Amino acid sequence: MHHKLPQYPHKSTRELKASLFLFRLLSRRFIVRTSLYLWRFLKSIHFPIKQLIGFTGYEQFCAGQDVTSCASMTEKLAQYNVYSVLDYANEHTTSAMDYKHNATMVLETIDAAKNNPAYPFAVVKPTAIGSFKLYQKMGAGQKLTTSEQLIWTAMQQRFEQLASAAAQATVILMIDAEESWILDGVNLLVLPLFVKYNSDKVVLALTIQLYLKDRNLVYKSLLKDADEKGYVLGAKLVRGAYMEKERNRSAVLNISNPVCETKDATDNQYRDALLSAMQALDKHFCIVATHNQSDINWVVDYCSKNNISVRNSNLWFSQLYGMRDYISFSLAEQGANVFKYVPFGPLEQAVPYLIRRALENSAMKSQTLQECLMIKNELRRRKING
Ligand SMILES: Cc1cc2nc3c(=O)[nH]c(=O)nc-3n(C[C@H](O)[C@H](O)[C@H](O)COP(=O)(O)OP(=O)(O)OC[C@H]3O[C@@H](n4cnc5c(N)ncnc54)[C@H](O)[C@@H]3O)c2cc1C
Repeated sequence: MHHKLPQYPHKSTRELKASLFLFRLLSRRFIVRTSLYLWRFLKSIHFPIKQLIGFTGYEQFCAGQDVTSCASMTEKLAQYNVYSVLDYANEHTTSAMDYKHNATMVLETIDAAKNNPAYPFAVVKPTAIGSFKLYQKMGAGQKLTTSEQLIWTAMQQRFEQLASAAAQATVILMIDAEESWILDGVNLLVLPLFVKYNSDKVVLALTIQLYLKDRNLVYKSLLKDADEKGYVLGAKLVRGAYMEKERNRSAVLNISNPVCETKDATDNQYRDALLSAMQALDKHFCIVATHNQSDINWVVDYCSKNNISVRNSNLWFSQLYGMRDYISFSLAEQGANVFKYVPFGPLEQAVPYLIRRALENSAMKSQTLQECLMIKNELRRRKING
């Protein structure tokens, strides 16, 4: 893909220098691991964590503490036709009160999106609004106790409430995918809503993790199901972010790892899913959610060879806030539909999310170094141009 400069129009030179410093640190796994232990230690001694905000990468990967404070960044992105989804950062909630609170926060983001073209999407993480244990139990076909049944019904109602709010606000609600062993349970609650809400346009989009060996077949059978039942399938195609967890669990339980054996196998599945998505674009909706430049190039080329506009309303690209910004801006410049996943939330709550991002960056050293190179080039360009 051809990059025209500037690549980071939403960032000041000071902010870009801070990003460069952070990505350099993130390219060193040893430093990332050490800082995680340090973070845990500071928490255990009740160190006033808020004072550390500048040292955590928070501002690189999160846009603000609440919906309102994100607006200045998301409006800046929208000026360059890069849109946003506000993603309330939290990982693995466990109390009924928190589920309710998180659902309220998602409703707030849907409300913010209602009349604001900068936010065409909203997003929900299933474990933020429902019990991990119950998704797992239901997915495994186990019987719930009477009290669990009540909790399950409340989870069902929360999904229904969010889908209905999204439909009324004409916002697309994406459902994130998490650990493989809860996916079937989540689908029990979510798939019936597709028939109800996606009958003539996309309101809900499910996430498909192509690092799972069976997901290509699952994606294809969902496309078929959508055709048969007459609904629009909304799908966000990702590789998957829980590789280490999946590997550890299968080793502990002595079961086969559901994740592809190699990166190449994941890449093949991802590309194959992209092909299915592109072939179904006249009817079904797809979000190409990846930082992988060669997949993005492939989709753009596919569009040009097959007379499909990259502006097709059924095709969106997405990257995470603070990562591969040069890809997002370049896509927007070519007229493609693109949005950033923009996490927000109080620092303490966002930390597990930041940790996941830090580990991901340190694990993908070549991509992180590429990010450093792009930032350095942009800093050089600004120095020359004044
Ligand atoms: C907008 C957006 C939304 C996302 N939403 C979700 C979500 O809901 N759920 C979720 O799980 N993830 C989500 N992700 C994260 C995503 O799954 C990937 O972890 C991340 O994007 C890196 O993959 P890539 O395709 O960008 O890049 P690449 O660098 O091309 O791929 C890295 C990925 O390849 C896979 N991989 C790496 N090594 C191996 C190996 N040895 N064997 C098999 N597979 C391997 C892993 O999935 C790894 O994350 C999202 C990402 C984006 C950009």
